[in-house]
Amino acid sequence: MLVGTKHGMYINGEWLSAATGEVIEVFNPATREKIAEVPSCSKEEAELAVQSAQAAFEAWANVTARERSSFLYKAYHKMIERKEELARLLTMEQGKPLQEARGEIEFAASFLLWYAEEANRVYGEMIPAAKKGKRLWVVPKPIGVVAAITPWNFPSAMVTRKVAPAIAAGCTVVLKPAEQTPLSAIKIVRVFEEVGLPKGVINLVTGDPVQIGKVLMESSDVRSITFTGSTEVGKLLMKGSAQNVKKLSLELGGHAPLLVLDDADLDLAAEQAAASKYRNCGQTCICTNRIFVHENVKDTFTQKLQEKVRQLHLGNGLEEGVTIGPLIDKGGLEKVKRQVEDSVSKGAVVTAGGKEWNGPGGYYYEPTILTNVSNDMKIMKEETFGPVVPIVPFTSIDEAIKAANDTDYGLAAFLFTNDLSKAINIMEKLEYGIIGINDVFPGTAEAPFGGMKESGLGREGGHEGIQEFIEMKYVSLAIK
Ligand code: ADP
Repeated sequence: MLVGTKHGMYINGEWLSAATGEVIEVFNPATREKIAEVPSCSKEEAELAVQSAQAAFEAWANVTARERSSFLYKAYHKMIERKEELARLLTMEQGKPLQEARGEIEFAASFLLWYAEEANRVYGEMIPAAKKGKRLWVVPKPIGVVAAITPWNFPSAMVTRKVAPAIAAGCTVVLKPAEQTPLSAIKIVRVFEEVGLPKGVINLVTGDPVQIGKVLMESSDVRSITFTGSTEVGKLLMKGSAQNVKKLSLELGGHAPLLVLDDADLDLAAEQAAASKYRNCGQTCICTNRIFVHENVKDTFTQKLQEKVRQLHLGNGLEEGVTIGPLIDKGGLEKVKRQVEDSVSKGAVVTAGGKEWNGPGGYYYEPTILTNVSNDMKIMKEETFGPVVPIVPFTSIDEAIKAANDTDYGLAAFLFTNDLSKAINIMEKLEYGIIGINDVFPGTAEAPFGGMKESGLGREGGHEGIQEFIEMKYVSLAIK
Protein backbone atom coordinates (compact mmCIF):
# COMPACT_ATOMS: atom_id res chain seq x y z
CA MET A 1 0.00 0.00 0.00
CA LEU A 2 1.41 3.36 -0.95
CA VAL A 3 -0.34 5.52 1.62
CA GLY A 4 -1.14 3.83 4.90
CA THR A 5 -3.72 5.65 6.99
CA LYS A 6 -5.88 3.51 9.21
CA HIS A 7 -6.29 6.50 11.50
CA GLY A 8 -8.40 8.60 9.22
CA MET A 9 -11.15 9.53 11.63
CA TYR A 10 -10.65 12.74 13.58
CA ILE A 11 -12.93 13.30 16.54
CA ASN A 12 -12.43 15.85 19.31
CA GLY A 13 -8.81 16.42 18.30
CA GLU A 14 -7.82 12.74 18.13
CA TRP A 15 -6.99 10.53 15.18
CA LEU A 16 -8.79 7.22 15.49
CA SER A 17 -9.40 3.97 13.69
CA ALA A 18 -12.87 2.44 13.69
CA ALA A 19 -13.56 0.43 16.86
CA THR A 20 -14.81 -2.42 14.67
CA GLY A 21 -11.54 -2.34 12.69
CA GLU A 22 -13.56 -1.92 9.52
CA VAL A 23 -12.03 0.03 6.68
CA ILE A 24 -12.85 1.39 3.26
CA GLU A 25 -10.30 0.88 0.53
CA VAL A 26 -8.97 3.68 -1.62
CA PHE A 27 -7.81 2.99 -5.19
CA ASN A 28 -5.80 4.90 -7.73
CA PRO A 29 -8.14 5.29 -10.73
CA ALA A 30 -5.15 5.52 -13.07
CA THR A 31 -3.99 1.98 -12.26
CA ARG A 32 -6.77 0.42 -10.14
CA GLU A 33 -4.16 -0.29 -7.46
CA LYS A 34 -5.16 -0.04 -3.83
CA ILE A 35 -3.37 2.89 -2.24
CA ALA A 36 -4.85 3.18 1.23
CA GLU A 37 -7.35 2.01 3.78
CA VAL A 38 -9.26 4.45 5.94
CA PRO A 39 -11.65 3.72 8.80
CA SER A 40 -15.24 2.88 8.07
CA CYS A 41 -16.86 4.53 11.04
CA SER A 42 -19.87 3.10 12.81
CA LYS A 43 -23.13 4.89 13.53
CA GLU A 44 -21.93 5.48 17.11
CA GLU A 45 -18.66 7.01 15.91
CA ALA A 46 -20.49 9.36 13.56
CA GLU A 47 -22.66 10.36 16.52
CA LEU A 48 -19.53 10.99 18.59
CA ALA A 49 -18.23 13.31 15.89
CA VAL A 50 -21.46 15.31 16.05
CA GLN A 51 -21.27 15.44 19.86
CA SER A 52 -17.68 16.64 19.66
CA ALA A 53 -18.67 19.43 17.26
CA GLN A 54 -21.64 20.35 19.44
CA ALA A 55 -19.49 20.46 22.58
CA ALA A 56 -16.96 22.76 20.90
CA PHE A 57 -19.55 25.09 19.38
CA GLU A 58 -20.26 27.54 22.16
CA ALA A 59 -16.62 28.33 22.85
CA TRP A 60 -15.78 28.62 19.14
CA ALA A 61 -18.75 30.89 18.46
CA ASN A 62 -17.42 33.20 21.18
CA VAL A 63 -13.86 33.37 19.89
CA THR A 64 -13.27 36.74 18.24
CA ALA A 65 -13.54 36.91 14.49
CA ARG A 66 -9.92 38.08 14.37
CA GLU A 67 -8.77 34.98 16.15
CA ARG A 68 -10.79 32.65 13.93
CA SER A 69 -9.35 34.49 10.98
CA SER A 70 -5.80 33.95 12.20
CA PHE A 71 -6.23 30.14 12.18
CA LEU A 72 -7.42 30.33 8.60
CA TYR A 73 -4.47 32.49 7.54
CA LYS A 74 -2.06 30.00 9.09
CA ALA A 75 -3.83 27.08 7.43
CA TYR A 76 -3.63 28.93 4.10
CA HIS A 77 0.14 29.36 4.36
CA LYS A 78 0.68 25.78 5.43
CA MET A 79 -1.38 24.47 2.57
CA ILE A 80 0.60 26.50 0.06
CA GLU A 81 3.88 25.23 1.60
CA ARG A 82 2.60 21.67 1.15
CA LYS A 83 1.34 22.23 -2.39
CA GLU A 84 3.46 19.60 -4.10
CA GLU A 85 2.81 16.87 -1.56
CA LEU A 86 -0.94 17.55 -1.51
CA ALA A 87 -1.11 17.71 -5.30
CA ARG A 88 0.60 14.34 -5.74
CA LEU A 89 -1.73 12.70 -3.26
CA LEU A 90 -4.72 14.28 -4.96
CA THR A 91 -3.64 12.90 -8.35
CA MET A 92 -3.11 9.47 -6.86
CA GLU A 93 -6.55 9.19 -5.36
CA GLN A 94 -8.50 11.15 -7.95
CA GLY A 95 -6.64 10.76 -11.25
CA LYS A 96 -6.42 14.35 -12.54
CA PRO A 97 -3.09 15.37 -14.13
CA LEU A 98 -0.55 16.70 -11.64
CA GLN A 99 -0.63 20.17 -13.16
CA GLU A 100 -4.39 20.36 -12.57
CA ALA A 101 -3.93 18.99 -9.05
CA ARG A 102 -1.46 21.77 -8.25
CA GLY A 103 -4.04 24.24 -9.54
CA GLU A 104 -6.66 22.66 -7.31
CA ILE A 105 -4.47 22.98 -4.21
CA GLU A 106 -4.00 26.69 -4.92
CA PHE A 107 -7.74 27.04 -5.52
CA ALA A 108 -8.47 25.13 -2.29
CA ALA A 109 -6.06 27.32 -0.32
CA SER A 110 -7.64 30.46 -1.78
CA PHE A 111 -10.83 29.73 0.18
CA LEU A 112 -8.85 29.66 3.41
CA LEU A 113 -7.39 33.05 2.56
CA TRP A 114 -10.67 34.56 1.41
CA TYR A 115 -12.58 33.44 4.50
CA ALA A 116 -9.72 34.48 6.76
CA GLU A 117 -10.57 37.95 5.43
CA GLU A 118 -14.37 37.58 5.38
CA ALA A 119 -14.43 36.30 8.97
CA ASN A 120 -13.91 39.94 10.00
CA ARG A 121 -16.77 41.27 7.91
CA VAL A 122 -19.91 39.62 9.19
CA TYR A 123 -22.02 42.67 9.99
CA GLY A 124 -25.32 43.15 11.71
CA GLU A 125 -27.77 46.00 11.26
CA MET A 126 -29.44 48.77 13.24
CA ILE A 127 -32.98 49.44 11.97
CA PRO A 128 -34.67 52.85 12.44
CA ALA A 129 -37.84 51.96 14.39
CA ALA A 130 -41.27 53.13 13.26
CA LYS A 131 -42.36 53.68 16.89
CA LYS A 132 -40.77 55.94 19.46
CA GLY A 133 -38.94 54.33 22.35
CA LYS A 134 -37.85 51.28 20.40
CA ARG A 135 -34.42 50.16 19.35
CA LEU A 136 -34.20 47.41 16.73
CA TRP A 137 -31.13 45.62 15.66
CA VAL A 138 -30.07 42.48 13.87
CA VAL A 139 -27.25 40.42 15.28
CA PRO A 140 -25.52 37.78 13.14
CA LYS A 141 -24.92 34.45 14.87
CA PRO A 142 -23.22 31.24 13.68
CA ILE A 143 -25.84 28.64 12.87
CA GLY A 144 -24.30 25.78 14.90
CA VAL A 145 -22.87 22.42 13.92
CA VAL A 146 -22.39 22.10 10.17
CA ALA A 147 -22.16 18.78 8.34
CA ALA A 148 -20.04 19.12 5.20
CA ILE A 149 -20.43 16.32 2.67
CA THR A 150 -17.96 16.59 -0.17
CA PRO A 151 -17.51 14.91 -3.57
CA TRP A 152 -14.54 13.19 -5.21
CA ASN A 153 -14.09 15.45 -8.25
CA PHE A 154 -12.38 18.24 -6.26
CA PRO A 155 -11.25 16.40 -3.13
CA SER A 156 -9.43 19.45 -1.70
CA ALA A 157 -11.23 22.49 -3.01
CA MET A 158 -14.72 21.31 -2.07
CA VAL A 159 -13.50 20.70 1.48
CA THR A 160 -12.06 24.18 2.00
CA ARG A 161 -14.89 25.90 0.11
CA LYS A 162 -17.27 24.56 2.78
CA VAL A 163 -15.13 24.27 5.88
CA ALA A 164 -13.41 27.68 5.66
CA PRO A 165 -16.58 29.82 5.67
CA ALA A 166 -18.20 27.63 8.34
CA ILE A 167 -15.21 27.97 10.66
CA ALA A 168 -14.90 31.68 9.84
CA ALA A 169 -18.54 32.20 10.81
CA GLY A 170 -18.01 30.54 14.20
CA CYS A 171 -19.52 27.15 13.37
CA THR A 172 -18.03 23.76 14.12
CA VAL A 173 -17.90 21.07 11.48
CA VAL A 174 -18.31 17.37 10.84
CA LEU A 175 -16.68 16.67 7.50
CA LYS A 176 -17.54 13.60 5.46
CA PRO A 177 -15.47 13.32 2.29
CA ALA A 178 -16.33 11.05 -0.63
CA GLU A 179 -15.35 7.42 -0.10
CA GLN A 180 -13.26 7.49 -3.31
CA THR A 181 -11.08 10.40 -2.13
CA PRO A 182 -10.74 10.67 1.65
CA LEU A 183 -6.96 11.18 1.66
CA SER A 184 -6.91 14.83 0.63
CA ALA A 185 -9.51 15.60 3.29
CA ILE A 186 -7.39 13.84 5.92
CA LYS A 187 -4.39 15.97 4.92
CA ILE A 188 -6.40 19.19 5.13
CA VAL A 189 -7.66 18.29 8.58
CA ARG A 190 -4.03 17.62 9.58
CA VAL A 191 -3.22 21.14 8.46
CA PHE A 192 -5.94 22.51 10.75
CA GLU A 193 -4.61 20.37 13.58
CA GLU A 194 -1.07 21.65 13.07
CA VAL A 195 -2.12 25.28 13.16
CA GLY A 196 -3.74 24.61 16.54
CA LEU A 197 -7.43 24.79 15.71
CA PRO A 198 -9.17 23.96 19.01
CA LYS A 199 -10.40 20.42 19.55
CA GLY A 200 -13.80 19.62 18.15
CA VAL A 201 -13.99 22.58 15.76
CA ILE A 202 -13.35 20.25 12.87
CA ASN A 203 -14.16 16.54 12.95
CA LEU A 204 -13.74 14.04 10.15
CA VAL A 205 -15.61 10.82 9.52
CA THR A 206 -15.06 8.40 6.67
CA GLY A 207 -17.09 5.36 5.71
CA ASP A 208 -20.49 4.30 4.47
CA PRO A 209 -22.23 7.43 3.15
CA VAL A 210 -25.74 6.14 3.74
CA GLN A 211 -25.08 5.30 7.39
CA ILE A 212 -23.16 8.50 8.13
CA GLY A 213 -25.68 10.55 6.14
CA LYS A 214 -28.51 9.14 8.26
CA VAL A 215 -26.79 10.16 11.49
CA LEU A 216 -26.12 13.66 10.18
CA MET A 217 -29.69 14.12 8.95
CA GLU A 218 -31.32 12.73 12.07
CA SER A 219 -29.25 14.67 14.58
CA SER A 220 -31.01 17.79 15.78
CA ASP A 221 -27.60 19.16 16.82
CA VAL A 222 -26.57 19.41 13.17
CA ARG A 223 -28.16 22.70 12.10
CA SER A 224 -26.89 22.89 8.55
CA ILE A 225 -25.82 20.50 5.83
CA THR A 226 -23.56 21.80 3.09
CA PHE A 227 -23.30 19.31 0.26
CA THR A 228 -21.74 19.03 -3.17
CA GLY A 229 -22.68 16.02 -5.25
CA SER A 230 -25.43 14.54 -7.34
CA THR A 231 -28.93 16.01 -7.57
CA GLU A 232 -30.25 12.60 -6.54
CA VAL A 233 -28.39 12.60 -3.20
CA GLY A 234 -29.16 16.31 -2.75
CA LYS A 235 -32.87 15.50 -2.88
CA LEU A 236 -32.40 12.69 -0.34
CA LEU A 237 -30.68 15.15 1.98
CA MET A 238 -33.53 17.64 1.56
CA LYS A 239 -36.09 15.00 2.47
CA GLY A 240 -34.02 13.70 5.38
CA SER A 241 -33.34 17.16 6.73
CA ALA A 242 -37.02 18.08 6.76
CA GLN A 243 -37.51 16.11 9.99
CA ASN A 244 -35.68 18.75 12.03
CA VAL A 245 -35.72 21.63 9.52
CA LYS A 246 -32.04 22.07 8.86
CA LYS A 247 -30.61 24.72 6.65
CA LEU A 248 -29.26 23.28 3.40
CA SER A 249 -26.66 24.50 0.96
CA LEU A 250 -26.64 22.27 -2.08
CA GLU A 251 -24.26 22.33 -4.99
CA LEU A 252 -25.72 19.73 -7.34
CA GLY A 253 -25.45 18.54 -10.92
CA GLY A 254 -25.09 20.61 -14.06
CA HIS A 255 -25.63 20.27 -17.78
CA ALA A 256 -23.73 23.29 -19.02
CA PRO A 257 -24.41 24.58 -22.52
CA LEU A 258 -21.65 26.41 -24.41
CA LEU A 259 -22.90 28.72 -27.16
CA VAL A 260 -20.65 29.81 -30.02
CA LEU A 261 -22.05 32.69 -32.08
CA ASP A 262 -20.91 33.34 -35.65
CA ASP A 263 -18.93 36.45 -34.67
CA ALA A 264 -16.96 34.61 -31.96
CA ASP A 265 -13.19 34.25 -31.88
CA LEU A 266 -13.20 30.60 -32.95
CA ASP A 267 -9.65 29.86 -31.81
CA LEU A 268 -10.51 31.07 -28.34
CA ALA A 269 -13.87 29.27 -28.36
CA ALA A 270 -12.28 25.94 -29.38
CA GLU A 271 -9.44 26.27 -26.89
CA GLN A 272 -11.81 27.14 -24.06
CA ALA A 273 -14.40 24.52 -25.04
CA ALA A 274 -11.66 21.87 -24.87
CA ALA A 275 -10.48 23.19 -21.50
CA SER A 276 -14.01 23.23 -20.15
CA LYS A 277 -14.93 19.79 -21.46
CA TYR A 278 -11.78 17.76 -20.89
CA ARG A 279 -10.41 19.31 -17.71
CA ASN A 280 -10.64 16.76 -14.90
CA CYS A 281 -11.67 14.28 -17.62
CA GLY A 282 -15.03 16.01 -17.90
CA GLN A 283 -15.81 15.45 -14.24
CA THR A 284 -16.70 18.91 -12.99
CA CYS A 285 -20.23 20.10 -12.35
CA ILE A 286 -19.68 23.14 -14.60
CA CYS A 287 -18.08 21.14 -17.44
CA THR A 288 -19.51 21.91 -20.84
CA ASN A 289 -22.04 19.19 -21.57
CA ARG A 290 -23.55 20.47 -24.82
CA ILE A 291 -22.03 22.74 -27.46
CA PHE A 292 -24.38 24.83 -29.61
CA VAL A 293 -22.60 26.38 -32.60
CA HIS A 294 -23.92 28.75 -35.23
CA GLU A 295 -24.42 26.93 -38.54
CA ASN A 296 -22.12 29.42 -40.34
CA VAL A 297 -19.11 28.49 -38.21
CA LYS A 298 -19.97 24.91 -37.28
CA ASP A 299 -17.43 23.20 -39.56
CA THR A 300 -14.52 25.50 -38.71
CA PHE A 301 -15.24 25.31 -34.98
CA THR A 302 -15.54 21.50 -35.09
CA GLN A 303 -12.19 21.19 -36.92
CA LYS A 304 -10.52 23.44 -34.38
CA LEU A 305 -11.96 21.45 -31.49
CA GLN A 306 -10.83 18.19 -33.12
CA GLU A 307 -7.34 19.63 -33.37
CA LYS A 308 -7.40 20.48 -29.65
CA VAL A 309 -8.53 16.93 -28.86
CA ARG A 310 -5.66 15.50 -30.92
CA GLN A 311 -3.24 17.47 -28.75
CA LEU A 312 -4.54 15.91 -25.52
CA HIS A 313 -2.42 13.20 -23.96
CA LEU A 314 -4.39 10.56 -22.08
CA GLY A 315 -2.66 8.65 -19.26
CA ASN A 316 -1.64 8.43 -15.62
CA GLY A 317 -1.77 11.98 -14.27
CA LEU A 318 1.50 11.53 -12.38
CA GLU A 319 3.41 11.17 -15.66
CA GLU A 320 5.02 14.13 -17.33
CA GLY A 321 3.09 15.42 -20.35
CA VAL A 322 -0.25 13.77 -19.49
CA THR A 323 -3.08 16.28 -19.92
CA ILE A 324 -6.13 14.09 -19.36
CA GLY A 325 -6.44 11.33 -16.77
CA PRO A 326 -8.85 8.48 -16.07
CA LEU A 327 -12.44 8.55 -14.91
CA ILE A 328 -12.90 8.06 -11.19
CA ASP A 329 -14.23 4.50 -11.25
CA LYS A 330 -15.99 1.76 -13.16
CA GLY A 331 -19.39 3.40 -12.70
CA GLY A 332 -18.10 6.64 -14.22
CA LEU A 333 -16.62 4.80 -17.19
CA GLU A 334 -19.75 2.73 -17.78
CA LYS A 335 -21.93 5.85 -17.81
CA VAL A 336 -19.78 7.43 -20.52
CA LYS A 337 -19.82 4.25 -22.60
CA ARG A 338 -23.60 4.00 -22.28
CA GLN A 339 -24.11 7.60 -23.41
CA VAL A 340 -21.88 7.18 -26.46
CA GLU A 341 -23.49 3.84 -27.43
CA ASP A 342 -26.95 5.35 -27.03
CA SER A 343 -26.01 8.36 -29.18
CA VAL A 344 -24.41 6.26 -31.92
CA SER A 345 -27.38 3.86 -32.01
CA LYS A 346 -29.61 6.91 -32.65
CA GLY A 347 -27.46 8.27 -35.47
CA ALA A 348 -24.68 10.32 -33.85
CA VAL A 349 -21.31 10.42 -35.62
CA VAL A 350 -18.09 10.07 -33.60
CA THR A 351 -15.70 12.69 -34.96
CA ALA A 352 -12.98 12.20 -32.33
CA GLY A 353 -12.28 9.45 -29.78
CA GLY A 354 -15.22 7.21 -29.01
CA LYS A 355 -13.43 4.32 -27.35
CA GLU A 356 -12.34 2.99 -23.99
CA TRP A 357 -8.57 2.75 -23.55
CA ASN A 358 -6.89 0.18 -21.32
CA GLY A 359 -3.63 2.07 -20.94
CA PRO A 360 -1.95 1.52 -17.59
CA GLY A 361 -4.97 -0.39 -16.28
CA GLY A 362 -7.18 2.50 -15.20
CA TYR A 363 -10.64 3.72 -16.17
CA TYR A 364 -9.75 5.54 -19.35
CA TYR A 365 -11.97 6.84 -22.12
CA GLU A 366 -10.72 8.78 -25.11
CA PRO A 367 -11.69 12.45 -25.34
CA THR A 368 -14.67 12.33 -27.67
CA ILE A 369 -16.72 14.60 -29.92
CA LEU A 370 -20.14 13.66 -31.29
CA THR A 371 -21.92 15.34 -34.19
CA ASN A 372 -25.27 14.68 -35.88
CA VAL A 373 -26.81 14.69 -32.45
CA SER A 374 -30.55 14.76 -31.71
CA ASN A 375 -32.59 15.68 -28.67
CA ASP A 376 -33.75 12.14 -27.99
CA MET A 377 -30.22 11.08 -27.05
CA LYS A 378 -29.36 10.59 -23.37
CA ILE A 379 -26.35 12.88 -23.66
CA MET A 380 -28.68 15.81 -24.37
CA LYS A 381 -30.59 15.25 -21.14
CA GLU A 382 -28.24 13.64 -18.60
CA GLU A 383 -25.13 15.05 -17.04
CA THR A 384 -22.22 13.15 -18.66
CA PHE A 385 -19.40 13.59 -16.12
CA GLY A 386 -16.94 12.32 -18.69
CA PRO A 387 -14.86 13.40 -21.69
CA VAL A 388 -17.60 13.40 -24.33
CA VAL A 389 -19.27 16.39 -25.93
CA PRO A 390 -22.05 16.70 -28.51
CA ILE A 391 -21.98 19.55 -31.04
CA VAL A 392 -25.37 20.87 -32.16
CA PRO A 393 -25.72 23.52 -34.88
CA PHE A 394 -28.23 26.39 -34.64
CA THR A 395 -29.39 29.16 -36.97
CA SER A 396 -31.24 31.57 -34.68
CA ILE A 397 -30.10 32.85 -31.31
CA ASP A 398 -33.57 32.39 -29.81
CA GLU A 399 -33.50 28.75 -30.81
CA ALA A 400 -30.07 28.33 -29.18
CA ILE A 401 -31.20 29.98 -25.92
CA LYS A 402 -34.31 27.80 -25.82
CA ALA A 403 -32.24 24.65 -26.33
CA ALA A 404 -29.67 25.78 -23.76
CA ASN A 405 -32.41 26.31 -21.15
CA ASP A 406 -34.17 23.04 -22.00
CA THR A 407 -32.96 21.17 -18.91
CA ASP A 408 -33.86 20.82 -15.25
CA TYR A 409 -30.33 21.91 -14.36
CA GLY A 410 -29.20 25.52 -14.04
CA LEU A 411 -25.63 25.68 -12.83
CA ALA A 412 -23.31 27.17 -15.46
CA ALA A 413 -23.60 28.31 -19.08
CA PHE A 414 -20.91 29.63 -21.41
CA LEU A 415 -21.13 32.01 -24.31
CA PHE A 416 -18.62 32.98 -27.00
CA THR A 417 -19.22 36.19 -28.92
CA ASN A 418 -17.52 39.53 -29.56
CA ASP A 419 -20.82 41.39 -29.78
CA LEU A 420 -21.42 43.10 -26.43
CA SER A 421 -25.15 43.67 -26.94
CA LYS A 422 -25.75 40.06 -27.92
CA ALA A 423 -23.66 38.90 -24.94
CA ILE A 424 -25.78 40.93 -22.51
CA ASN A 425 -29.11 39.97 -24.08
CA ILE A 426 -28.27 36.27 -24.09
CA MET A 427 -26.77 36.35 -20.60
CA GLU A 428 -30.01 37.82 -19.26
CA LYS A 429 -32.08 35.03 -20.83
CA LEU A 430 -29.95 32.07 -19.78
CA GLU A 431 -31.46 30.36 -16.71
CA TYR A 432 -28.19 29.62 -14.99
CA GLY A 433 -26.54 30.69 -11.73
CA ILE A 434 -23.13 31.17 -13.37
CA ILE A 435 -22.49 32.61 -16.84
CA GLY A 436 -19.06 32.65 -18.45
CA ILE A 437 -18.73 35.07 -21.38
CA ASN A 438 -15.62 34.22 -23.42
CA ASP A 439 -14.51 32.53 -20.22
CA VAL A 440 -14.94 28.96 -19.03
CA PHE A 441 -13.19 29.43 -15.68
CA PRO A 442 -15.64 31.43 -13.56
CA GLY A 443 -14.85 29.63 -10.28
CA THR A 444 -12.95 31.84 -7.85
CA ALA A 445 -13.06 32.33 -4.08
CA GLU A 446 -14.29 35.94 -4.22
CA ALA A 447 -17.40 35.29 -6.34
CA PRO A 448 -20.69 33.49 -5.52
CA PHE A 449 -20.87 30.05 -7.10
CA GLY A 450 -24.12 28.10 -7.25
CA GLY A 451 -27.01 26.94 -9.34
CA MET A 452 -30.62 27.61 -10.19
CA LYS A 453 -33.39 25.02 -10.68
CA GLU A 454 -32.30 21.47 -9.76
CA SER A 455 -28.64 22.49 -9.59
CA GLY A 456 -28.95 23.55 -5.99
CA LEU A 457 -29.56 26.00 -3.21
CA GLY A 458 -27.34 28.72 -1.81
CA ARG A 459 -23.99 30.05 -2.94
CA GLU A 460 -20.40 29.21 -2.11
CA GLY A 461 -17.55 31.68 -2.24
CA GLY A 462 -17.87 35.46 -2.21
CA HIS A 463 -19.29 37.33 0.76
CA GLU A 464 -22.44 35.27 0.18
CA GLY A 465 -20.66 32.02 1.08
CA ILE A 466 -20.28 32.87 4.76
CA GLN A 467 -23.94 33.88 5.08
CA GLU A 468 -24.93 30.23 4.54
CA PHE A 469 -23.60 29.62 8.06
CA ILE A 470 -25.06 32.69 9.75
CA GLU A 471 -28.46 33.20 11.32
CA MET A 472 -29.83 36.64 12.01
CA LYS A 473 -31.10 37.28 15.49
CA TYR A 474 -33.50 40.20 15.53
CA VAL A 475 -33.63 42.13 18.79
CA SER A 476 -36.40 44.56 19.70
CA LEU A 477 -35.75 46.70 22.77
CA ALA A 478 -38.24 49.08 24.37
CA ILE A 479 -36.66 51.95 26.31
CA LYS A 480 -38.08 54.60 28.57
P1 ADP B 1 -21.41 10.86 -7.25
O1 ADP B 1 -22.58 10.12 -7.81
O2 ADP B 1 -20.80 11.81 -8.18
O3 ADP B 1 -20.40 9.98 -6.54
P2 ADP B 1 -22.76 11.48 -4.84
O4 ADP B 1 -23.85 12.48 -4.74
O5 ADP B 1 -23.13 10.03 -4.73
O6 ADP B 1 -22.01 11.80 -6.17
O7 ADP B 1 -21.64 11.75 -3.75
C1 ADP B 1 -21.30 13.00 -3.22
C2 ADP B 1 -21.09 12.87 -1.73
O8 ADP B 1 -22.31 12.44 -1.14
C3 ADP B 1 -20.05 11.84 -1.32
O9 ADP B 1 -19.38 12.28 -0.16
C4 ADP B 1 -20.90 10.63 -0.99
O10 ADP B 1 -20.27 9.74 -0.10
C5 ADP B 1 -22.09 11.29 -0.34
N1 ADP B 1 -23.31 10.48 -0.31
C6 ADP B 1 -23.72 9.55 -1.20
N2 ADP B 1 -24.90 9.02 -0.81
C7 ADP B 1 -25.25 9.62 0.34
C8 ADP B 1 -26.35 9.52 1.25
N3 ADP B 1 -27.35 8.69 1.03
N4 ADP B 1 -26.35 10.32 2.34
C9 ADP B 1 -25.35 11.19 2.57
N5 ADP B 1 -24.28 11.33 1.77
C10 ADP B 1 -24.23 10.57 0.66
